[in-house]
Parts: sequence; structure tokens; C-alpha cells
Amino acid sequence: MQFRKLKLTGFKSFVEPAELRIEPGLTGVVGPNGCGKSNLLEAIRWVMGENSPKSLRSGGMEDVIFAGTERRPPRDFAEVVLQAVDSEGEELDVTRRIERGAGSAYRVNGRDVRAKDVALTFADAATGAHSPALVSQGKIAQVIAAKPTERRMMLEEAAGIAGLHVRRKDAESKLRQTEANLARLEDLMAGLD
Ligand code: ATP
Repeated sequence: MQFRKLKLTGFKSFVEPAELRIEPGLTGVVGPNGCGKSNLLEAIRWVMGENSPKSLRSGGMEDVIFAGTERRPPRDFAEVVLQAVDSEGEELDVTRRIERGAGSAYRVNGRDVRAKDVALTFADAATGAHSPALVSQGKIAQVIAAKPTERRMMLEEAAGIAGLHVRRKDAESKLRQTEANLARLEDLMAGLD
């Protein structure tokens, strides 16, 4: 999957709509302290489903919405659109939007989808909110010092099999539910005899 464009509105310090082209290859973001470099990376993680306050440097979900400054009022919503092209050349438009008091919602190519669908789409394409391809400040040292289990997770993500783990968990929980239903059915049938 290749990321092509990132559009932000009301996300953290990006109060005005901003659009950035993402060219093929390695992309670096440079700029003075506090200009929003990390916010950009967080926007990419967020649109791919990130919710962790630590990864987003936030206290709550709504902290990603522009909080206002002395001169500008806060915004009511934040929206991030990530345009990408998948391995078959199909265009993929993923949108995440959060409104104050209303939570966040996702759309893929204009269609409402669940957070899980978005996470699986990116996991299958060997990327996602925790992809090692997104390198934030201090991350290089972290990769070098990673434990073998953490390295394995990075390799699995790079190989595009991270989505399989999610599916396996889903399948296991469905299996348990079905077994419970079957046991109940057998009890009921025994009662009819
Ligand atoms: P550094 O190089 O110092 O790490 P940076 O370029 O990575 O900085 P960021 O950390 O991305 O900068 O941006 C920080 C700025 O974003 C701060 O000025 C902070 O006030 C602003 N900011 C973060 N969240 C919000 C929000 N919800 N509303 C408004 N501004 C925000």
C-alpha cells in the first residue's frame, strides 16, 4: 500500500484544512520546535485507528480536536483523510472524524465502516497505527533496544500477517460461543426427552 495524501481539519494544531502530498519513498518531516511535526504522524496513526492516549499524547479521545488559542475558538470536530493506493492499484480513501460529545466514526471510500474493518485493512496491507514504517522521535533507539518478542511483532507487521492474529482471536471467540450454544441446546433437548 502506498500513501498518497493526508488531509487534516481541526486535528490538534491543524485548525485550518491542510493537505499534504506523500511521495513514494522515505518521507521526513522537518521544522521548528512545536510546529506540528509529531501531530502529523499522530494524524496518520489516528486515521488508521490509534486510540492510545500515550501514542496520541492526549488525555482523552477528544483531545485531538483543536482546543483553541487566545485568538481562536476551539473546534467542534477533527477530521483526517488518508488517501492511499493498494497493491492492486485500487484507490483507498479512509476518513476518521470525531465530534465533541459524539465519538468518532470511520468511512472507507465514502461508506461507513467499523473501526475493526479499518484496522484489518491496514494490517493486511502490512501497515497500521503501530507500523514500524512510522518513525517518531526517539523511535530508532527503541527499535535497537527492542526485546525479541517486540522484534517479532515488528517483523510480523512488516510481513502483513498481523491481521491474521486478530482474525484468529475472532474465530476463537465465535467457536467458544458456538460451543456454549451447542451445550445449551443439548440441555434443552435432554429436557424434552
Ligand atoms: P518538537 O520538535 O518540539 O517535538 P513538533 O514539531 O513535533 O515539536 P508537535 O508536538 O507536533 O510539534 O506540536 C505541538 C503543538 O501542537 C503545540 O503548540 C501544542 O499546543 C499544539 N497542540 C497539540 N494538541 C492541540 C490541540 N488539541 N489543539 C490545539 N493545539 C494543539
